Amino acid sequence: MERPGSILTAALALAAAATAELRAADVYLGESLRQLGATVLPAQKGDRAGSERHGGAGKPTLYAERDRDHVLVDGVKVMLSEPVGLLKGRLTVARVDYDKVLVPLFWRTAERKAVRRIMLDPGHGGNDPGKQHAKYNEKTVAFDTAVRVKAALEQQGFEVLLTRSKDASLDLPARPALAGKFAADLFVSIHYNSAGTNDTTSEGIETYCLTPPGTRSTNVAKGKADVSAEPGNRFDARNLQLAWCVQRQLLARTRGEDRGVRRARFAVLRTLPCPGILIEGGFVSSRREGALIGTPVYRQQVAEAIAAGIAEYARAVQPAGR
Ligand SMILES: [Zn+2]
Repeated sequence: MERPGSILTAALALAAAATAELRAADVYLGESLRQLGATVLPAQKGDRAGSERHGGAGKPTLYAERDRDHVLVDGVKVMLSEPVGLLKGRLTVARVDYDKVLVPLFWRTAERKAVRRIMLDPGHGGNDPGKQHAKYNEKTVAFDTAVRVKAALEQQGFEVLLTRSKDASLDLPARPALAGKFAADLFVSIHYNSAGTNDTTSEGIETYCLTPPGTRSTNVAKGKADVSAEPGNRFDARNLQLAWCVQRQLLARTRGEDRGVRRARFAVLRTLPCPGILIEGGFVSSRREGALIGTPVYRQQVAEAIAAGIAEYARAVQPAGR
């Protein structure tokens, strides 16, 4: 039986919740998506209490759940800077997540110039092997994947450049600089992941884009965050659109676990002069996925997915009248 004190505390908490006002840093999810042309969709089987669905013709479908650190957009996990909130029975999100996630995905605008030249960046190289598997190094499989992406994109008429054309060392800052030197329209860095020692089961696919100014990166603990603004932040909307397109294709074609569109201030993303992403195409440390990454069949799937995601993005931002 509950003590009267705790009943009173609970009653006060309820009263406080009923009169709580929306913080200036937050927006109601439904209201803000309505401004972007989406409508409320009925719940589906399996939707949890404290969840909402929004979407409609010509819009992706968004599923959000109270207290979650992400939303699902057409089924793809997109990490937020703050968890989804609940106020007066309605879900809320941080205003910055509205600006940097919802607007780019729900309100697409055309580029002035068509996407044509893609710079692919195979991770590591030379004396930096990257993550290591008993049978291969990350630098080798990342390079092989990049060569396959290049072939797939060239077939579709894109011009493709690599930051390294062989097993050579290349500093991190030199990579985005090459995108500037060769006036690339997009930059895509290709890596494979690894978990901690003795973890042979973690697996899945991550696509990173630069963290927006003032917000925390996905893998950084709250309060410890660098919240700096970087030159690459001028492409925040494009970065997110590209990351989402590529992550979606990667999941569809590899059936890998969705670890989400994530945010990081990686050196190769910070100073980019064009939109860009960094892909972690699976875990070399996973017994199952590590073996898969060692096969040309899997790397071809990853490569075709990356190319399809880039092509989808390019179509979505195509200048009007082309
Ligand atoms: Zn790597």
